[in-house]
Amino acid sequence: KVVCVTGASGFIASWLVKLLLQHDYTVKATVRDPNDPKKTQHLLSLDGAKERLHLFKADLLEEGSFDSVVDGCDGVFHTASPVATDVVNPQAELIDPALKGTINVLRSCAKFPSVKRVVVTSSMAAVVFTGKPLTSEVLIDESWFSDPVSCKESKRWYVLSKTLAEEAAWKFSKENGIDMVTINPAWVIGPLIQPTLNLSAELVLNLINGAQTFPNRSYRLVDVRDVANAHIQAYEIPEASGRYCLVERDLHYSETVKILRKLYPELPLPEKCADDKPYAPSFQVSQEKAKSLGIHFTPLEVSLKDTVESLKEKNFVS
Ligand code: NDP
Repeated sequence: KVVCVTGASGFIASWLVKLLLQHDYTVKATVRDPNDPKKTQHLLSLDGAKERLHLFKADLLEEGSFDSVVDGCDGVFHTASPVATDVVNPQAELIDPALKGTINVLRSCAKFPSVKRVVVTSSMAAVVFTGKPLTSEVLIDESWFSDPVSCKESKRWYVLSKTLAEEAAWKFSKENGIDMVTINPAWVIGPLIQPTLNLSAELVLNLINGAQTFPNRSYRLVDVRDVANAHIQAYEIPEASGRYCLVERDLHYSETVKILRKLYPELPLPEKCADDKPYAPSFQVSQEKAKSLGIHFTPLEVSLKDTVESLKEKNFVS
């Protein structure tokens, strides 16, 4: 049982590597800089790492970079992709690594017949933004696919990068006979294994670190442990196919603040919404398909508590 995980040092991938090692897999993990202890030490100290974790250097934008890693693998988990909202050059910083990087990895997979299935970490970003109105009556499922034109018009560059990457991945995998499954998580929270702060955990940190207001937005959340587990189930269950949306709940920021206040009355949580318009509506996302992978979603209250505890333990909370 040999598998590859791209972008292994990241928030989600670190949990994926941890669970794969627990499931007795041998893991060939790619990082950009194997000599940076901040990117590797937490992986090397996981249970089973000494015996079954092998680190490789690979970059999404270097052609053929993944060949030697993918060679001999039964499965590939492609998680690497930049996660950022503040970018100066969206093409270079987000779109190229997401889109060209995904095809680069899939091209390596197509070269080696040992690869039986590829699980790609896509996103709810590639699902939700179809241009259709998002009202509280809406029920979103895997048949939705974000529209690149409307993502571009609204300058949602990260959303565009994930949408273009998933679109191209389906085209390439169909043309090249690759058995591919995508996992489409919402904003991912939960305890951090890696020592650095990732963007989706920062969302929680911003709320508990003295923000005066919360945004007038609804958003979707899911626990990192459920996301990592879903990757493994999507790989192991032979009937798994297509896309899997992973959303515990869509809720307004005000509701997250309410849950946090109940858990941590002593924290300086924001009291007010950033504007005085009516609250933006939240909508529903179907959990049916995710449940067919055997996923029992961790309640958001537990995920939020474990995120805050982890941020405190790692001294991110001021
Ligand atoms: P992290 O920022 O923690 O991890 C991103 C990973 O991608 C890092 O390992 C990073 O490597 C790697 N990477 C970025 N650019 C390159 C490149 N040019 N070459 C090689 N590797 C690169 O993010 P997450 O763990 O949150 O995200 C992982 C995946 O999950 C991404 O595909 C993301 O789009 C997706 N996702 C995340 C969600 C979230 O809320 N967190 C929600 C939905 C999907 P390095 O460490 O060297 O920088």
